[in-house]
Amino acid sequence: MIRPVVLYPAPVLNVKCRNITTVTDEHRTLAADMLETMRDENGVGLAAPQVGVDLQLAVIDVSHNPKCVSYFKVNGQDADMVAHMPIVFINPVVEGGKVKVTDEEGCLSFPRLRANIRRSAEVKVTYETLDGGKVTIETDGLLARAFQHEIDHLNGILFIQRMSAAAKLGLKRKLRDLMAEWAEDAEADDEDEA
Ligand SMILES: [Zn+2]
Repeated sequence: MIRPVVLYPAPVLNVKCRNITTVTDEHRTLAADMLETMRDENGVGLAAPQVGVDLQLAVIDVSHNPKCVSYFKVNGQDADMVAHMPIVFINPVVEGGKVKVTDEEGCLSFPRLRANIRRSAEVKVTYETLDGGKVTIETDGLLARAFQHEIDHLNGILFIQRMSAAAKLGLKRKLRDLMAEWAEDAEADDEDEA
């Protein structure tokens, strides 16, 4: 089922999400819904808070772009990136490499906004899977960027917090528009309930 994507500045986007201790059917349904929602929105990643759930669960799929990484290792072994997509990851821990790269990013919670963000070029991510396994992925490129973006979401950090001050200033007006739209929508929701 497609779920509505939560837009900035909804408060759920700013909280550190809770760990999942035992995977239940509810989490499996959430993951399936998030994959469906991400595809519907043409996104490459989606984190649980973006559908209003403050849990350490996110999804990524970069299979449309098989050349977006120069290497992909699963538990230390070279592996086929496309065959491993989509990735549903729980309680992730990320280690970023020292080398940083700047590239343009968008976020489904910020419609029409794109910005250059500096992030580690390479990552090592360890996470739990829906069937209780533990996986470590090492990679670079768009996938490394997507992992960092989604794991930031799970810690309540938004990509605008990673922008340079100058870039943020340039987007001030767009951010203000998003805040105004959000306030209007919230008001409309209240009326629906009343
Ligand atoms: Zn995002």
